[in-house]
Amino acid sequence: MFFDFSQNNSGGGFDFDAERGISHYVIVEAADADEANYRAERIGLYFDGEGDCACCGDRWTAQWSSDAGTAVPSVYDEPVESATVYMKWMGDNPDAFVHYVDGRIVGHSLAKKPL
Ligand SMILES: [Zn+2]
Repeated sequence: MFFDFSQNNSGGGFDFDAERGISHYVIVEAADADEANYRAERIGLYFDGEGDCACCGDRWTAQWSSDAGTAVPSVYDEPVESATVYMKWMGDNPDAFVHYVDGRIVGHSLAKKPL
């Protein structure tokens, strides 16, 4: 299953790291939500809000343990290949990285949603 961690631009900026595979959306393949949270923290996500802006809220939110994930890598329940977003914050960089259990990290540029 795949679990989508959507980044909140706490403090007015997004974290991006092409090497670690961190962008607006970090999609993690895992057996369940707890494993996804564990793997996300290994990638470099954090769920304690440390250093984040208090008014903007935490940058990353852990999956609920009841979350079943999606069968294919998805953003807001749309497959990442066809997912569209209102705002592209990452310029020419991938908006999403998919982290497979076999270690592959695959970047995707998402299409802009027509207004
Ligand atoms: Zn703020």
